[in-house]
Amino acid sequence: MGEPLRSITIVGGGSAGWLAAAFLNRFGKAKDAKQGPEITLIESPNIPIIGVGEASLPGMVMLLHQLGISESEFFKQTDATFKVAAHFINWHHDEKGQPAEFLNILNAPPSIDGRQIADYFVSFDSARATASAGMSYVRTFSPVVEIVRGNLAPRRPGQPDFTGEVGYTYHFDATKLAAMLKDVATSRGVKHILDDVDNVNLDERGFVKSLSLRGRGEHPVDLVIDCTGFRGSILQQALGEPFESYADYLLNDRAAVVQIPHKDPRVIAPTTRATGFSAGWNFNIPLTTRVGTGYVFSSKFISDDKAIEELLAYYGDQAKGCEPRIIPIKTGRVRKAWVKNCVALGLSSGFIEPLEATAIFMSDVGVRWLYHFMPTRDFEPELAAGYNRQISRLYEEVRNFVQLHYHLNNRQDSAYWKAAREDVKLSDRFRENLEIWRNTTPQDIDLDSTVLFGAPVYSLVLLAKGFYKDARLATASSLSRSAYERYRNEVHDARPNQLKGLIGQAEFLKNGGKAVGGLLGGGRGVDLPSLGPTSTQIRLPAQPQSRGPAKRR
Ligand SMILES: Cc1cc2nc3c(=O)[nH]c(=O)nc-3n(C[C@H](O)[C@H](O)[C@H](O)COP(=O)(O)OP(=O)(O)OC[C@H]3O[C@@H](n4cnc5c(N)ncnc54)[C@H](O)[C@@H]3O)c2cc1C
Repeated sequence: MGEPLRSITIVGGGSAGWLAAAFLNRFGKAKDAKQGPEITLIESPNIPIIGVGEASLPGMVMLLHQLGISESEFFKQTDATFKVAAHFINWHHDEKGQPAEFLNILNAPPSIDGRQIADYFVSFDSARATASAGMSYVRTFSPVVEIVRGNLAPRRPGQPDFTGEVGYTYHFDATKLAAMLKDVATSRGVKHILDDVDNVNLDERGFVKSLSLRGRGEHPVDLVIDCTGFRGSILQQALGEPFESYADYLLNDRAAVVQIPHKDPRVIAPTTRATGFSAGWNFNIPLTTRVGTGYVFSSKFISDDKAIEELLAYYGDQAKGCEPRIIPIKTGRVRKAWVKNCVALGLSSGFIEPLEATAIFMSDVGVRWLYHFMPTRDFEPELAAGYNRQISRLYEEVRNFVQLHYHLNNRQDSAYWKAAREDVKLSDRFRENLEIWRNTTPQDIDLDSTVLFGAPVYSLVLLAKGFYKDARLATASSLSRSAYERYRNEVHDARPNQLKGLIGQAEFLKNGGKAVGGLLGGGRGVDLPSLGPTSTQIRLPAQPQSRGPAKRR
């Protein structure tokens, strides 16, 4: 074993850089400040952060908890809101040719006798397993549909931080998130240098020896983490690591983004809305103070000007006077995220596309895996190989799942949607799985990697898209109809209690989520009838997991 690292240098002060700094400072060193590597973050005063990336996955809940950040403080500092689902609208059409909708929620459904609820739904609720099944399937086991319809917060006023009736995560202001993580990291000892890295100096082995800073001169490095965004200044540019494009798999290569006021600030949806447009899709991310929105599109099918026109027309008066900016999107990943003594994190390591809000999560996972594979000053190649293998699998996992949304669309109204369905490359495993799933519902063993997207969420999307319409599963005869009915009755009886005391998210956040006289356990909570699972608390491990944050399902 070689000598321990003396220093870790992070270049880039976007959410990836500050997340890495805060995490490694918290877990990568002993409490005794004399031990462990010195952590420095260098950030250009001239190159702004990308400033988008405002929806997250449940790993963010665990991250805040592990960094010891209070949830109410986080809401206050980043204008954050709850997200209980991604709400897909117009990604496919129902039997009448009308835009269909579904919710991709953050809890795994329970199983009955070891089989997914999806199997029972397909077998015994086949009349409902149509192209508009998205909502009815989720209702079978979760109160999220009612929470979304009521624009409710998933937690009652006065309940402790990080607990909820259903799984949730957050939307936040990306710039404020980076600033908050910066305060956390610097207040706990991370050194911050505002300067430009003008040159990356390599030694005779091709390792990064030092960085030439415009103002401060030479900065020697041990381990360097490249968080320089799409530029990829160190790993891609200086070390020459090739970028493997996913352009053949995913059509979108640009986004028109803009921040707009709320239509009605008294109503804040607890969802990221993803609405199919003519040549891509629109994200709608509500914060307490504004809405972040954008049109993610393919330049092969629409020009920048036309995309901006479509986006602004969709929002009408709500976007009056707002000027969208265009962001080019490079989808794909570096061949190896860790080369010699340099690890790329965040956009410099790759990007799938904004759908499913996976990018910040992938930075989070990346830094957790780096913590697990942390090298000595010998930079053991086996550790880099292990890390690179996991990261490649994760990228492919996310790419495949994101492709599912596009490939299964049935829209006939635009050339873009036809191409998204028919003219993109699919991995062999993806094709094989679709054939398998014509006969049975997805299981984790079908998937090469399930860090984030396991079988239940595949089942949910397939069901929502009508994939199982008129299907007869071979396993149907082994399922107990009476057990399913018993389950549904229990769910039905439990649902009012699950919803009791939940209040509108706007009202909840106005009060910072704190207990307010008269609201606890009643107040203006909704009492909606119908179905749901036993309540799901978000489980929070006390220590970081080398496997990464909470699995989506
Ligand atoms: C349209 C769009 C929507 C998105 N939506 C989501 C979402 O909903 N959820 C999600 O998780 N992710 C989303 N993402 C991705 C998300 O924006 C990024 O993952 C996240 O912001 C992290 O960015 P970053 O820190 O890697 O890079 P950046 O924010 O670009 O930061 C780069 C940093 O590097 C510094 N830098 C660069 N070169 C140098 C140099 N030579 N010297 C010194 N410093 C340098 C810059 O100053 C800056 O501080 C979205 C991306 C796009 C394009």
